[in-house]
Amino acid sequence: MQYWTCPLCGANLDSGEKCDCRKEEKRKQERIERLYKQEAGSSQLTFNWAPERLKA
Ligand SMILES: [Zn+2]
Repeated sequence: MQYWTCPLCGANLDSGEKCDCRKEEKRKQERIERLYKQEAGSSQLTFNWAPERLKA
């Protein structure tokens, strides 16, 4: 039996097994995006500046 370690989350997986951390990450991102859309819709604020621009 061969094992591999996911470079993203460090989970030990069987060879051929796919780690679901990417799926989890995507789900998290979708939740955030939905939240932003709700926020923008309810407060009429526009979130078109990137966080990097706020720092500069
Ligand atoms: Zn992983």
